[in-house]
Amino acid sequence: MEGPVCRVAWGYYVLLAISIGAHCTISSDNFTFPSTLDPQTRPVAAADVEANEPAMLSIPMIACYSSLSERNSSGSGINKNKQMVEQLQQYGVFSSKKVAEVMETVDRALFVADGTPAYVDSPMAIGYSATISAPHMHATCLQLLEQNLQPGMHALDVGSGTGYLTACFAIMVGSQGRAVGVEHIPELVSSSIKHIEKSAAAPLLKEGSLSVHVADGREGWPEHAPYDAIHVGAAAPEIPQPLIDQLKPGGRMVIPVGKMFQDLNVVDKNLDGSVSIRSEISVRYVPLTSRDAQLKGY
Ligand code: SAH
Repeated sequence: MEGPVCRVAWGYYVLLAISIGAHCTISSDNFTFPSTLDPQTRPVAAADVEANEPAMLSIPMIACYSSLSERNSSGSGINKNKQMVEQLQQYGVFSSKKVAEVMETVDRALFVADGTPAYVDSPMAIGYSATISAPHMHATCLQLLEQNLQPGMHALDVGSGTGYLTACFAIMVGSQGRAVGVEHIPELVSSSIKHIEKSAAAPLLKEGSLSVHVADGREGWPEHAPYDAIHVGAAAPEIPQPLIDQLKPGGRMVIPVGKMFQDLNVVDKNLDGSVSIRSEISVRYVPLTSRDAQLKGY
């Protein structure tokens, strides 16, 4: 995000962080904020970082959205998904029409468990010490990678978790492109494939331009390299060299870097092979680590 969009988005994050506060419980008809802090993916306002007391961020109107069971009974989930996307745009989180289109096409509720408040702007636990990232982080990463997710391009999603972003990538690069998810928890890979099979990306999975693999994502996925776009959904202490190597000249990687305090880094590989790195925002993601460490709870 650049210029005014970035400023508006920061305003949104900071205002909500201040208004909602840390570790609070807000109830509405059918939704309660979690009262404890899990390792989750969300931008952290500077004040939160300093106080080490991150706030739960949400879009108040989205907080009233219903659970998946209501979605199933009313069949209106896709409309609520659309409303969620519109709210993110209204709050200035992103501005790209293509990102709106793909997020409207891929219903987030298909990627979380029944009964989960799918359209709330918050990360959610998905088991195995992992989370599905918050919608605003998905939108932010999709927008940062948009130019590198054009039809025919190759995209790698490291730490693909629920498969939501892999599905979005696959739709953006299309059947002539390649979208690869790499996740080291086999159960999450199996469930992500089931989610994708129910989603708008199902035909791409069937025909093979979308695939998800059980592997250590720190090694990337050389088979379909080089990649125009690499997204890493977990925080690395430093940028893994294999991922830099598998980035195409002209390609872009978005990766959270750091331990306790993390930055969402945008890594551009220039045409001469050199690499430029900038920090987009402060974030908090689960770690990019070994399977053992993750299953022991880090
Ligand atoms: N983008 C995903 C984020 C999932 S959370 C989503 O929104 O659904 C981060 C994921 O990274 C977890 O599923 C975790 O299991 C995975 N992960 C962590 N370290 C990894 C590694 N070394 N290799 C592959 N996946 C890893």
